[in-house]
This record gives sequence, C-alpha cells and structure tokens, in this order.
Amino acid sequence: TADRTADDTAGNGTVPSGRVLLSIESVSKRFGDLVALSEVDLDVHEGEVVVVLGASGSGKSTLCRCVNRLETVDSGRIVFDGRDLPQEGAALAALRADVGMVFQSFNLFAHKTVLENVVLGPTRVRKVPRAEAVEEARALLDRVGVRDKESRYPAELSGGQQQRVAIARALAMHPKLMLFDEPTSALDPEMIREVLDVMVGLARDGMTMVAVTHEMGFARRAADRVVFMDHGRIVETGEPDAFFTAPRTERARDFLSTIL
Ligand code: ADP
Ligand code: MG
Repeated sequence: TADRTADDTAGNGTVPSGRVLLSIESVSKRFGDLVALSEVDLDVHEGEVVVVLGASGSGKSTLCRCVNRLETVDSGRIVFDGRDLPQEGAALAALRADVGMVFQSFNLFAHKTVLENVVLGPTRVRKVPRAEAVEEARALLDRVGVRDKESRYPAELSGGQQQRVAIARALAMHPKLMLFDEPTSALDPEMIREVLDVMVGLARDGMTMVAVTHEMGFARRAADRVVFMDHGRIVETGEPDAFFTAPRTERARDFLSTIL
C-alpha cells in the first residue's frame, strides 16, 4: 500500500520475494459503536513472519478472526491465496484448513486423545487415509516434542504441551498460513519457551506466519516485520530491532514501556 516503504519488510535481512499470500485491504470492522478495526492494510508474503503487537483491545484478535472468517468484515477486502475469502460451505472449510490457528486458550478436543486430536482434521477434512494420517501425526507430535503423550487426554497435559499439540494439529492440515493469537499468554513462564521454540522452528522452516504475541524474544528471533496496532489501526510497521529499540510513534513508545 501507498504508505509502506521498502525497509518495512526487510526484517532479519529477508526481504520477502515470494508472492503475497494474504492481502488485507482497507478492512474495517465495528461491534455496534465500537470500531474494532479501522482501514487496516496488511500484505503478508509467502514465507514471511509478521508479529502483531498492541495493547489489549487494539483489534489484534479481531484481525486474526477476520482472516479465517470467524468474523466478517464490514468493509474492505481480504484476499487469501489469490481469492477473496469464501463465504460458506466447502470453500470456507478449505480456508479454515489452509489457515491454521492457535489461540490463547487451549482449544483441543477434551474427549479425544492427543493423537486423535491431530488425526481428526486430515482424515475428515482432507480425506487422508487413517494409517497415513496417524503416521504423519506421530511425526508432527515428535517435531513439537510430545510424541510420548499421544495416548493422553488434553487435561493430562501441561498448558505448554497442549499448545504444542494444538500447533501439531494445525500443521497436520498442511496450512499455507499459521495464525497465532497470544499462544503463550496463558502459560506459566517455564512453558512459554517450549512453545516459542516450536514457533521459531516453524518460522525457520519457511512457514508463513502472523503471530500476535508480546514475546519480544520471539519477535527478534523470528519476525521479518512487526506491526503495531492501536485503537483498530496499524500505526507503525517496521523491522523488529528497529521497532523495539527506536519506535517512531509515541503510541508505540508508550506501549513498549508497559511491556519492557
Ligand atoms: P485485542 O485482541 O487487541 O485485545 P480485540 O480484537 O479482541 O482486541 O478487540 C478489539 C475491540 O473490539 C475491543 O474493544 C473489544 O472489546 C471489541 N470486541 C471484540 N470482539 C467483540 C465482540 N464479539 N463483540 C463486541 N465487541 C467486541
Ligand atoms: Mg486478543
């Protein structure tokens, strides 16, 4: 968009050369009188990692929820993988499979084992044969470090383990984009690292990611770009080191002083 300069996308030395996977164009969203998103513009390129920051209530979750159409936008446009977001039906189910989402709250299926949580989507939505889905689920559980928990139920796991299973479950669908909405903010400090390490690994493997998180260590290690929201608007975007050391807007400076 017009106000974006080349250095905004130069984080970690990786100027995105891939095509635009997600394009959010002048998106606005209200809840009654409350403006949750106001003319938000954001392009995310293939392989890019964008960290979204902002105070509570600034619209970060609403933005994520609009992208996988848990919310509908009032105006503007969201284009994912070359197409406007589908309204309903099979196309919407396909979108939800292509956009993996991990929330703050642990949202595993409580009555299913860890393995079944990961196998369910691929077998039901992607129609992957069960044996194949089980094999891949085990590989994914191994990758996130909870392979030994496959027969357990979510309540038997720590929060950090549950979030890692949630990541494995999303990855099992072979998503094109992963959305993380404060995935570590409900975790005890000792578990935050184990989840962030998995996210950093994903970023290094080239996953396209939009992550709402105030974990600066993650942003510095993995983000190509940081986007700072305030009252439903993106007010600053920049490369992580520059943003954290020298934010350009007073809003961002105020915000950083509250989390540093
Ligand atoms: P953040 O994730 O940055 O904390 P949210 O996107 O959750 O912010 O919320 C942005 C604003 O929209 C907040 O003022 C919030 O109270 C409001 N909001 C979010 N969802 C709803 C909803 N379903 N109904 C009414 N207001 C909402
Ligand atoms: Mg939120």
